[in-house]
Amino acid sequence: MADSIAVSDTIRAGPKQFDLDRCVHCGLCLNACPTYRALGLEMDSPRGRVYQMVQVSNGAPITPSYEEHIGLCLACRGCESACPSGVPYGRMVEDARCQIEAQTKRGRVATWVRDLIFRKLLVSRRALTAAGAALYLSEKIGLKGFMRLLGFCHLGGSLCEIAQLAPSAEPPFFFSQIGRTFPAEGERRHRVAFLAGCIANVSFARLNEATVRVLQKNGCEVAIPAGQGCCGALHLHSGLRDDARELARRNIDALEKGGYDAIVTNAAGCGSTLKEYGELLADDPQYSAKAHAFASQMRDVTEFLAGIELNREMTPVNAVVTYQDSCHLAHGQRVRTAPRSLLRAIPGVEFREMRGADICCGSAGIYNVVQNEMSMQVLASKMKQVNTTGASIVATANPGCMLQIEAGVRMHGKGQKVMHVVELLDRAYSGGR
Ligand code: SF4
Ligand code: SF4
Repeated sequence: MADSIAVSDTIRAGPKQFDLDRCVHCGLCLNACPTYRALGLEMDSPRGRVYQMVQVSNGAPITPSYEEHIGLCLACRGCESACPSGVPYGRMVEDARCQIEAQTKRGRVATWVRDLIFRKLLVSRRALTAAGAALYLSEKIGLKGFMRLLGFCHLGGSLCEIAQLAPSAEPPFFFSQIGRTFPAEGERRHRVAFLAGCIANVSFARLNEATVRVLQKNGCEVAIPAGQGCCGALHLHSGLRDDARELARRNIDALEKGGYDAIVTNAAGCGSTLKEYGELLADDPQYSAKAHAFASQMRDVTEFLAGIELNREMTPVNAVVTYQDSCHLAHGQRVRTAPRSLLRAIPGVEFREMRGADICCGSAGIYNVVQNEMSMQVLASKMKQVNTTGASIVATANPGCMLQIEAGVRMHGKGQKVMHVVELLDRAYSGGR
């Protein structure tokens, strides 16, 4: 994969009229919206945001206030699940952000930082490895812990507050496994491709390894195709649709000749975008059909495992476990039962449902960095619900949510452990360790 891409986003069209027309202003989505619950302001509710999109579509200028209200949206799609009219809010907010992005003139520093993150770092194995090494070093000399402590005491400014959310580096990084194929344990029943993500190769290397082991335990030969890379979800949510399209084409090229039974991801945020590649490349005559074929094979790892005959040879994991839905799994992919049924299948697990489990935790990609204050407010509400369950383990199905809840445990929790559903399965398959 090349180290960077340089694609200018020329998308100027905002939300489509037929999407805007679906909203009947009933307000049934309001209570499902974390920003409305936190602020109680109509303009920070789904209905209010749709109203503002309609104004812009009718010729009103894009103002800083519009940018602020659209920017404060978590794109969690909780409103989509609540809406009886089928308003495709996730698609609309992406369209609105692309429109804003196309018309926004940023300062030189802001443009440089954005370019660095989206067009140099996320798309380059070398850059991610270097960043991971720097992160690891900062942990070893205690810098990250010191910044977290300052943030915890509300000293040292926003950088220290954000340090609460910084992922850890987990060497050896998972990049070294890309291109390898792992055999099924026992009889081979499935042949799957695993997409390892971008940052996850550095910060969730052990989760990726656990995912491969759990799939192997369930009769899967697991290929980790060379040439794969970032899925483009973060680009898409930030209004960089052309960049996301370029990354989608690369992943399709890397996997199209594999003949896999399924393509699997352990990151719900990525899965949601990967399942929408067909829509993303609908206007590309060369890739449209291939993108639809790719998307039809995509499965979240919990969805895949719950859909096959699960290997029940597990050792008990004696713990009270609750589950935090990842928005992009529950609302984006409508996968709610699969992770819960897997948790219930683990012997020894006492599963306790959390109130408002499908309300966003405030992670939302890089939202917790760029909208830190609101993200922390949403997280504090979430942690109240986590604490009332009495669970010692909070399970989820998305690395971003894991980082956010871990920060929540440090700030408001009771020492709970945060784990991905497949990590709990891995523990059950590995003798309960
Ligand atoms: S988005 Fe849906 S639920 Fe919300 S006001 Fe519009 S029609 Fe009603
Ligand atoms: S996507 Fe989430 S934050 Fe945005 S309007 Fe819908 S419910 Fe509110």
